[in-house]
Amino acid sequence: MLMTRQTKIVATLGPASTDPVVLEKMISAGLNVVRVNFSHGSADEHIGRVRMVREIAARLHKDIAVMADLQGPKIRVGLFENGFVQLDVGSSFILDAQCKMGNQDRVGLDYPELVNDVKAGDTLLLDDGKIVFKVKKVAGSEIHVETLVGGPLKNRKGINKQGGGLSAPALTAKDMEDIRTAVAFEADYIAVSFPKSGADMYMARELTRAAGGHALMIAKIERCEALENIQELIKSCDGLMVARGDLAVEIGDAAVPAEQKRLIRAAREHNKLTITATQMMESMIESPVPTRAEVSDVANAVLDGTDAVMLSAETAAGKFPVETIMAMSRTCIEAEKSAKSTLDADFLNRKFTRVDQSIAMAALFTAHHLDVKAIAALTQSGSTALWMSRLNCGVPIFALTPEEKTRRRLSLYRDVRTVMMQYETEDREILLAKAEKALLDAKVVEMGDLIVITIGEPIGKSGGTNTMKIVRIGEHIGQTQ
Ligand code: PGA
Ligand code: MN
Repeated sequence: MLMTRQTKIVATLGPASTDPVVLEKMISAGLNVVRVNFSHGSADEHIGRVRMVREIAARLHKDIAVMADLQGPKIRVGLFENGFVQLDVGSSFILDAQCKMGNQDRVGLDYPELVNDVKAGDTLLLDDGKIVFKVKKVAGSEIHVETLVGGPLKNRKGINKQGGGLSAPALTAKDMEDIRTAVAFEADYIAVSFPKSGADMYMARELTRAAGGHALMIAKIERCEALENIQELIKSCDGLMVARGDLAVEIGDAAVPAEQKRLIRAAREHNKLTITATQMMESMIESPVPTRAEVSDVANAVLDGTDAVMLSAETAAGKFPVETIMAMSRTCIEAEKSAKSTLDADFLNRKFTRVDQSIAMAALFTAHHLDVKAIAALTQSGSTALWMSRLNCGVPIFALTPEEKTRRRLSLYRDVRTVMMQYETEDREILLAKAEKALLDAKVVEMGDLIVITIGEPIGKSGGTNTMKIVRIGEHIGQTQ
C-alpha cells in the first residue's frame, strides 16, 4: 500500500510519444519525468508535447516534471540525399563543412571548426561509436577519413573524438534560444550537454535565471574533461546525468560501469541528484521485451543508488513506449527489494550547519531506528526531502506541499513521493490533522500507523523546518474534530 517504486523513471518524448492516448498510458505506467530533447524537433513540437503532458498529469492527479535537455555543442553530420549511406570497412569518406547535401563520397558538418580540432591519426566515432573513422588528412574545409568500422550512416548522427579535446563552447546560440523556450514552458529541470567545467554550468544557470526560469540544473557527464573537473561540476549543479552514450565514446565503453558507480556515490555525498541514461532498454525500440542484460543494467543502476533511470529512443521513437516503462518499472521494484537499507556508517559523525538539515537528519535517524511506516516532510522548497532522500534509510518519504512546482521537481528524487496539501492555517494542531488526513486520502498510511513528521514554525515559511514530531495517524484528526 505504501510506495511501490522508489527509483524514478525519466522518459524522452518524441514522435512515438506524441499521441495523447499513448502519453496517458505512459504516465499511468509510471513515468515520473519527461525529457524534452532539443537535439531533435522544433520548439513548437516541444511546447505542444509539454502542454499535453501537463494536461494529462493534471487530469490524473500526478506530479510529472519536465526536463529540457539542451543539444549542446554536439557535432553532427548533415543530411544525405537518400537519408543515409552505407560505409564499408576500408572505404574513404570526407567530412566537409561546405557540403550541403551528402552522398557516397562526403557529407556536411554543422560545426565548421571541427577541422581545427582534429589531425591525421585521430579516431572519430559516429553514431555513439557504431561507425569509426581514422583521420587521414585535413585539407581546408575537408576532413579525409578511412572507415575502420562500417555500417549505415544516417542523417544528423553525432561525431565524437576519442580522448576528448573538442574546443566547442558548452552553450551554443541555439542552446541560449532553447533555454528561453524551456523557461517559457516552465521546465522543472534543464540538462546541459557536454559541460567541461563548473563555469559552463554557472553560465547555463545564469542564462536561465536571467530569462526568469527556476529550473534545477543537471550536468550531463559525457566528456573526458568533465571527469577531470568532476568536483567543481558536482558543486555547480543540482544533479548530474551519467550520459553513457557520449561518455562511452570519449573514455571507452569498458570504463563506464565503474565511472557510473563513482559518479552516483559522489553526487549523493554532495546532496545532488543522479540520472543514469542511455541504452538502458535499447532493444525495446524494436522488441516488446527487454534482454536479460538490459534488465540487469537497470537493476544495477538501482543498486548503485541512482535517483532515476532514463529512456531515450525507447520512448521517443520506439515501437513499445508503454511496455518499456512497464518493464523498467518492474525491474526497479524487484531490485529495490534486494537493496540494503542501512544508514551510511559515517552518518553519525557528520556535522550540519543548517537547522532544517539537522531536523531532516534527525527524522531520518528516528524513522530508521523506530521502524515507522513513513516520514512526512511538510516542505515549501523540498530541501528537507532532498536531504532525507540522499541516505538510503528504507522508509518512504512523503513530501506534503501546496507548491505545485516543488511537487513536480520532487518527482525525480529517489524514495520521495509527493502529496498535495494546502496549509491555510498557522495552528500547528490543525496542520498536523490536515497532514494526517492528506496521507490517509492518498492511501499511503492507515489509522494507527506510526510516522515521523517534520514541520517549520512559524508555519509556511520556506527553509524554516525546525520541528520533528512522532505521530500516530488519527491522533490529531481526533483532537481537532
Ligand atoms: P544524449 O545524452 O542522448 O543527448 O546524447 C545522453 C548520452 O550521451 O548518454
Ligand atoms: Mn550525449
